[in-house]
Amino acid sequence: EKTIDKIAAGEVVERPFSVVKELVENSIDSLADEIVVEIKNGGKSYIRITDNGSGISNDDIGISVLRHATSKIRTVSDLYSLDTLGFRGEALSSISAVSKFELTSKTEGEEMGKTVKISGGTTISEQFTGAPNGTTVIVRDLFYNIPARKKFLKTDKSEGSAITDLITRLSLINTDISFKLIRDGKIIHTTPKNTTELNVISSILGSDFSRSLMEIEYSSDMVDVRGYITNLNYYRANRKMQLIYVNDRFIIDKDISSSIEKAYSTMLPKGKFPGFILYINLDPSEIDVNIHPQKSKIKFNDMKFLEDLLYSLISKKLRSRF
Ligand code: ADP
Ligand code: MG
Repeated sequence: EKTIDKIAAGEVVERPFSVVKELVENSIDSLADEIVVEIKNGGKSYIRITDNGSGISNDDIGISVLRHATSKIRTVSDLYSLDTLGFRGEALSSISAVSKFELTSKTEGEEMGKTVKISGGTTISEQFTGAPNGTTVIVRDLFYNIPARKKFLKTDKSEGSAITDLITRLSLINTDISFKLIRDGKIIHTTPKNTTELNVISSILGSDFSRSLMEIEYSSDMVDVRGYITNLNYYRANRKMQLIYVNDRFIIDKDISSSIEKAYSTMLPKGKFPGFILYINLDPSEIDVNIHPQKSKIKFNDMKFLEDLLYSLISKKLRSRF
């Protein structure tokens, strides 16, 4: 039974990145407008997520960490539902099965909060505590009880930068929320709440970058495209400054990126990259989201149409500057 739980948890919790992703998504769901993420050693030894959201009531906190408490999912493939961004009702239980886990939460109406401590799936304690409204989750020593899995993790640096990129992606699509990322004691990233996309871009990718941006806007029956692209005088962009969202979901798509880079290719010096933040909206029937939710990929029915559209939109915008 324990082994099965651990294997199932391993399917859900791949690496520190997936823990942070699930926990921050929970914080966003809780309507928090301040989310603090702290990691140490790329999240391997320590992850802490604090939010000021709705909180979990004293009565529900124990249930929230039980597997399937919020759904009736039975197989791993069932975990990935078609109309949501991830698996349901599994994150807290899975994470607490493979770490030293601590959940503290308080709702607005309650006098006291509650802390639940779980190690490797075993509840250690559950007690009342003084706490601010909202939720804090601490995950220590991820995979301490699955050495085989632990061995497969990448370096601290590479896990840490995957998490940094994740917080960047989430910040750019949640401009109402203030995000703060602390990595090995150092503040990497803070954004204000209730602000503009350009302010978020400026606080994360730098004010020089954000000043170099030109706005893109296109709308038709089929697709809306809007966002920002670097101008031809900006040479300091790299591919981490290329962010694409489709229907509010961050994606990585080499074909789309290269059709955009192609629009720049004769106009930027060799070896220089454009930066862009594009928000694309399509009829949901035009995309296939029935794929692994952690891979940030989407299949388009008419890829060629979208590539051609982006190429011509951006070519035109770049030429308009001369
Ligand atoms: P799911 O999000 O799919 O329901 P989780 O295991 O991620 O499953 O979370 C279980 C439940 O715990 C959630 O449905 C929610 O009610 C509660 N919860 C988890 N994290 C938070 C949070 N940060 N703020 C408020 N409630 C939370
Ligand atoms: Mg969740």
